[in-house]
Amino acid sequence: MSSPGENTLRIDGPRLWSTIMRSAEVGPGVAGGLRRLALSDSDKEIRDIFRDWCEAAGLPVTVDRLGNMFARREGQEPGLPPVMIGSHLDTQIAGGRFDGIVGVLAGLEIARTLNDRGVQTRRPIEIVNWSNEEGARFAPPMSASSVFAGVNNLAWGLGRTDAEGVTFGAELNRIGYAGPLPVGGRDIDAYFELHIEQGPILDQAKIPVGVVTGSYAVRGFVTDVIGETSHAGPTPMAARKNALVGAAMIAVGVNDIGWKYSPDGKSTVTRIENWPNLVGIVPSRAQVTVDMRHPDLETVKQMGAEFMALLEDVRKRANVETAIAEDWSYGAEGFDESCVALVRDAANALGHENMDILSQAGHDAFNMARVTPTAMIFCPCTDGITHNEAENCLAEDVFPSVDVLMHAVLNRANRL
Ligand SMILES: [Zn+2]
Repeated sequence: MSSPGENTLRIDGPRLWSTIMRSAEVGPGVAGGLRRLALSDSDKEIRDIFRDWCEAAGLPVTVDRLGNMFARREGQEPGLPPVMIGSHLDTQIAGGRFDGIVGVLAGLEIARTLNDRGVQTRRPIEIVNWSNEEGARFAPPMSASSVFAGVNNLAWGLGRTDAEGVTFGAELNRIGYAGPLPVGGRDIDAYFELHIEQGPILDQAKIPVGVVTGSYAVRGFVTDVIGETSHAGPTPMAARKNALVGAAMIAVGVNDIGWKYSPDGKSTVTRIENWPNLVGIVPSRAQVTVDMRHPDLETVKQMGAEFMALLEDVRKRANVETAIAEDWSYGAEGFDESCVALVRDAANALGHENMDILSQAGHDAFNMARVTPTAMIFCPCTDGITHNEAENCLAEDVFPSVDVLMHAVLNRANRL
């Protein structure tokens, strides 16, 4: 099913760029980037603006109970499940203007372009803004899409707390985005996400389109280290159970595992909490967050096994106990070959140089891959800098991938 002029269909680049730059004014950071934490006042502001943009383009917006926003462009057969385009409008605490934002606003630009050209699709197209992708305020990342995909339940999603102990559910009510729709549980035809690469590969290769074929396998652990408080003076060295020493050994050991599997493997301690964290007292408890990644699932499992062996060693050497409080894994789900092929074919048909690439970061797409055929497209970002206010993209680096996204989605939405 084709429409007149479809093969020459291109987005309106300057319009997309001005939309991205308007978003970049909402929740400014201190160094030219954004600080637009999930469910903050600035998140509410960009949500309101996004809703206005969508409604002005004739797309009604619905909101589910976790604040996920769905802007729908109706299809010729409204009963068919929609093709989704999505990403996120929230940012890191010192984040960039493009991470996630490009993916959502590309969806809006595609709808605007289809409207301008009178292009109808067989299936509906929905543009999604996922709540709390970053997890910078409410851990973990990708919480709302994980509930949509049935990985976690609604009560879990609403009960996430920020550092002040405020719940996700309370903040959602406060900003007026606790919608009525159930979270997930409906048929989706396919999910496409365009995102900045967040690494230097495309930028260095000067290739505008990354065809994401899958992701690094990721394992994460939150580990409690349990010792005992005592006086930092009189307590003999042999009698100490210093939880912070155990945490420090974990940090060094986890880093060593990363070096062992470098360059493909990455292994990081990202966060340590220490109690009571007071002068003069041997710490009784520490909590260490660990993040391990490798393109090969079996290797990341091996890295996880080495982490468990490390804990055994730490227990002996630091005279502490350890317990895994939380663990997670993702990225091994894989993307849908036919959807990935639609992306590659669209890039080739449009004459855009492209390469296959793996994602090293987490994205809502990995949750969606559990419930619907999914593919991702990467565009370059300057020097791969991201999760940093200096994050930058050039307009000409973004537009080709948006055209690719549009044609991949059109082909999927129109298939018989
Ligand atoms: Zn992102």
